[in-house]
Amino acid sequence: MTRDPRYDILFEPLKIGPVTAPNRFYQVPHCTGMGFLRPRTLAAMRGVKAEGGWGVVCTEYNSIHPTSDDLPHAYASLWDDSDVRAHRLMTDAVHKHGSLAGAELWYGGARSPNMMSRLPPMDLASVPNTAGHPFQCRAMDKDDIRTFRHWHRRAAIRARDAGFDIVYVYATHGYLLSNFLNPRMNTRSDEYGGSLENRVRLVRELIEETKEAVGDTCAVAVRFSSDEEVGEDGVPIYGERREMFEMLQSLPDLWDINIADYSLEMGVSRFVKEAPLEPYMSWVKSVTDKPVVTVGRFTSPDTMVSQIKRGVTDFIGAARPSIADPFLPKKIEEGRSEEIRECIGCNICYAGDSLSAPIRCTQNPTMGEEWRRGWHPEIISEKATEGRVLVVGSGPAGLEAARGLGKRGYEVMLAEAGREIGGRVTREAALPGMSEYIRVRDYRKQQLLVMPNVDIFRESMMDVADVMAVEADHVAIATGSRWRPEMFDDEMFHQIATGDAAARVLTPDDIMDGRLPDGPTLVYDGDGYYMGGVIAEHLHRVGLDVTYCTPADSVSRWAANTSERWRIRTHMMTLGIGIETAHSIAGFDGHTARLTCAYTGADRAVSASHVVMVTARTPNDALYYDLLGGARAGALPFTLRRIGDCEAPAIIASAVYAGHRYARELETVVDIDEPLRHDRVDVGLGAN
Ligand code: ADP
Ligand code: SF4
Repeated sequence: MTRDPRYDILFEPLKIGPVTAPNRFYQVPHCTGMGFLRPRTLAAMRGVKAEGGWGVVCTEYNSIHPTSDDLPHAYASLWDDSDVRAHRLMTDAVHKHGSLAGAELWYGGARSPNMMSRLPPMDLASVPNTAGHPFQCRAMDKDDIRTFRHWHRRAAIRARDAGFDIVYVYATHGYLLSNFLNPRMNTRSDEYGGSLENRVRLVRELIEETKEAVGDTCAVAVRFSSDEEVGEDGVPIYGERREMFEMLQSLPDLWDINIADYSLEMGVSRFVKEAPLEPYMSWVKSVTDKPVVTVGRFTSPDTMVSQIKRGVTDFIGAARPSIADPFLPKKIEEGRSEEIRECIGCNICYAGDSLSAPIRCTQNPTMGEEWRRGWHPEIISEKATEGRVLVVGSGPAGLEAARGLGKRGYEVMLAEAGREIGGRVTREAALPGMSEYIRVRDYRKQQLLVMPNVDIFRESMMDVADVMAVEADHVAIATGSRWRPEMFDDEMFHQIATGDAAARVLTPDDIMDGRLPDGPTLVYDGDGYYMGGVIAEHLHRVGLDVTYCTPADSVSRWAANTSERWRIRTHMMTLGIGIETAHSIAGFDGHTARLTCAYTGADRAVSASHVVMVTARTPNDALYYDLLGGARAGALPFTLRRIGDCEAPAIIASAVYAGHRYARELETVVDIDEPLRHDRVDVGLGAN
């Protein structure tokens, strides 16, 4: 297939100072939960993106000195020669495919707690840590500023020596340089504070010094916010940003434009759709003739072309779309746009950084597995034998298993009890704000429909006899799970109601089945991720009086990791949904729910005709055990595995991953003692 000529513009090479990007696809710096801790994992992952056609591939944030230390978040570093060697793995992997490698230099200032290095953080004044740690930073004096500039310069030189083509001055996201630019925060009385010119001074010096140090071989990029304050979504408050930009516009080789509201820039699809930064870009390109990159969770080539043609941006910046599909550019180039694995905007990738765990992606199960498992997003080994595989259940686990097995060439039968495929994804995507989650199903459906060796059987509820009758060589049970109506107290499950009242205790499955309450409803969220809030919103939208209650201190506790907790709570408050935090549910009599304070143990009553319990799930594993059990034990004529929520209920990303792993591993030898390579700081000789 050939490329649609409408998309030619995306593949034009573009000069960035002394270097030239082979096309306009630009993976902006994004964190991965790997940083300096897992250099091989990181290098392989970034290399795959270059292979997939991203013309520029950047690192995550690189600390320039131990006084900027962000642990427990795994950042990258450019502190010494060993960092140079580690980064070489990445730059080599990226250059191998003709792409440019970019390094983002970072100094956290009042945002970095320095819990590993234990050195005092430094910023423009002695202010509290802006990430909530009980460590205040020290005010930088003029010597400190000079020393800081020296560190920055040295890090830039290390970046060049590591083989990077683009070196960043990072002046956004609430770190040191953005604080210097900030008119409210920077009240210094020396030449680095007060007037606009003074506040811009440090950024100007760094751009000039970085150019002077590495500008003959590397382009210098600046990450800069086009607005000054968080306003209403899509309504920028520019303040002095344009003036600042005008003062600096000709200095760097590239502008990488962000905005003040990270929860919009990095917004989850529940609240933020494609291209949310466009209103914030309105003036940027008219003020500079240097190339500009910005992001927008772009997955549609038409939107990309339109942004370029309308002069919004020069490069198509992406973090998440490049994670969900490292081969997105190649697919457009080869006229296979419909094969793009579109990001669903769930921010599970971002949770890797929040939790300091290697990155994962709901849509792309190979993300972060390129090195340790040798998984490639587009390549999978051929089947080992002529075996036939039955996959029971078409949720994310079953769909991905069928897709992987189909690609390997197996004859696959995918049996689904319902009329619709997609399992929990199809059901959840119908809830408020969740529509983009359907991409998990649609990408796989589109792939399966063109595979002649895969048959999908809908309305096929399988029992033991049905499974036996298929005479498959391999059977995967991917029958999912169902929400339970009980509460879990970290030790055991408790019924909260008996008799008639028990019939008024519902679960998310009841709600998704259309079984709705008919009076004031308490949604009890013991799960802590998105489902409690989504169910509360759904019931509010059908006109019910809803109270959301959680035993945690905050609404949607775990969603802090996906950077959506704040938006979820704001949204619920705006809708008028009642909120009770730090209370567990002790009982329900059909009229009143009894809540117990997590701290004092005091009880109080809330009127409710129904309670929806969002707590835990039961694996639908009866078929698996029935097959395993009885006289057939040990004598099954096929291999049998359970995968996904049927094995261990978890997030959608885990189900996709389980399906993928099953497909990869079927009829291969897996060393159960050492199932994956272990990337780490290596003190031995010749290891790995
Ligand atoms: P997962 O997240 O593990 O993929 P889901 O709950 O999303 O699990 O999907 C499970 C799917 O399995 C559902 O679509 C359900 O209808 C289907 N299913 C459950 N039991 C059977 C069965 N015995 N035969 C066929 N399909 C089944
Ligand atoms: Fe997109 Fe979710 Fe994958 Fe992140 S984890 S890239 S948000 S699909």
